Amino acid sequence: MKALVRLSPDITTKAPRTRARFVRRLVANLRAALDAEGIPAEIERDHVRIYVDAPDERALPVLRRVFGVHSVSPCLEEPAGELDDLVRRGEELYADAVRGRRFAVRARVRDRVPYRGQDVNVALGAALARHGKVDLTTPEITVSLEVRGGVVRWYTETVRGEGGLPLGVQGRAVVLLSGGFDSAVAAWLAMRRGVEIDLVFCRLGGEAHERAVFPIADLLALDWAAGSAPRLFVVPFEELAERLAADVIEPMRQLVLKRLMYRTAAAVARLVRAEAVVTGEALGQVSSQTLRNLRALGDADGLPVLRPLLAWSKEEIIALARRIGTHDLSAGVPEYCALVPRKPATGASVAALRREEEKVPFDPFAAVRAGRRVDLPHGMAGQDELAVTEIPEGAVVLDLREEEEARRLPLPGALRVDPLALDRLDPAEFAGKTVVVACRRGLRSAWVAFELRRRGIDAFHLAGGLSRLRRPSS
Ligand code: ATP
Ligand code: MG
Repeated sequence: MKALVRLSPDITTKAPRTRARFVRRLVANLRAALDAEGIPAEIERDHVRIYVDAPDERALPVLRRVFGVHSVSPCLEEPAGELDDLVRRGEELYADAVRGRRFAVRARVRDRVPYRGQDVNVALGAALARHGKVDLTTPEITVSLEVRGGVVRWYTETVRGEGGLPLGVQGRAVVLLSGGFDSAVAAWLAMRRGVEIDLVFCRLGGEAHERAVFPIADLLALDWAAGSAPRLFVVPFEELAERLAADVIEPMRQLVLKRLMYRTAAAVARLVRAEAVVTGEALGQVSSQTLRNLRALGDADGLPVLRPLLAWSKEEIIALARRIGTHDLSAGVPEYCALVPRKPATGASVAALRREEEKVPFDPFAAVRAGRRVDLPHGMAGQDELAVTEIPEGAVVLDLREEEEARRLPLPGALRVDPLALDRLDPAEFAGKTVVVACRRGLRSAWVAFELRRRGIDAFHLAGGLSRLRRPSS
């Protein structure tokens, strides 16, 4: 597949040197994204476009997920020739496609040739009008071509990318990741502005909490962080939360907890040389996020706290969570709300919050040291005791993939299961059987296997997921 990749306006409006630097990084990130999926590709660029030549249709969804890409069009590439040649060739290629339909021709010519784009529009439009009907305002199909460097690229389809800046051109930040909808979306938004991220997860619910949050960190790294190597810092907060519940007055507990999280993130930021802390806070979404409380929370030990979702509604956040793929995973993360006060403070003063905070001695560097650092994507990649790399004979296979994916690449004999409706499974049905849970990439199967075990099912999960199983081993 050849593809024409357009740069986001965030890049094209920059001065030449900045732009060159951004495009270099974008090309490197595109290459990393394709590499990670095992798709070999050649990438070329000129002043305005990037051209990708990959032998594989899978390249398209990969390319559009790289930040800085405005849109992608799969195209046909060949020598351009004269105007007559283009018209003849265009008619040959698209006569069938425009037959009985409203169509438009859009040509861009950026070569030293004796014809211009408009000449092609008129001449090819007339030739194709023998097969279909010209309609420049509401075409059903648009025949597009770009002529540049003696080459013409034909296309009819354009897929939108996410735009933004190439990951890595805007420094590094530490994201406080809770596993809820908001912080995952905030992390994504930071990355879309070119910020490389590391994630800090303050673990409040032990191993179960961790297993639910890992897949989200993995998804962010796998699907959206190509060209970067995010790390997840897991910091145990369980004991701290207990101490806090004992020593801090009830209305202030959540805010003090948040302060300790900021300071933990700031400690990690110092370790990884990050410039800021990012959270999923949104003004007024919950009682702890009033304007007054945000003021009382202040900065993170001298680093700014960035809140990409500050003015977003919950609906907008959820919609984006769906698009980026974290929604279902976040929906499966249990809330750890032991500290949510019955009557939370909505107007904490800076002084009062500091006073409460001082009741809890806390060394953020020690807390980080007591936790661990995980390089992403981790995928619980066969590193846990429930992972298997092949499906054993006679095992019952539970397929967690979405219906469409499962239909496209069916797994014979497998039982499709909705990972959010595990309650409907009857453990008795699986008595005496080995169960292997499989999903696309081994992200959610890990925690589902763990959950099934808690229900008494002899469950394992397929490390790396079904996509790995199907890829010829290399
Ligand atoms: P989210 O949907 O991201 O969980 P929320 O609406 O539940 O956010 P809070 O629980 O007040 O709101 O959390 C606000 C922000 O604080 C989160 O978006 C996240 O950045 C950070 N945060 C909260 N809990 C944790 C945690 N356990 N570990 C790391 N960061 C956290
Ligand atoms: Mg939350």
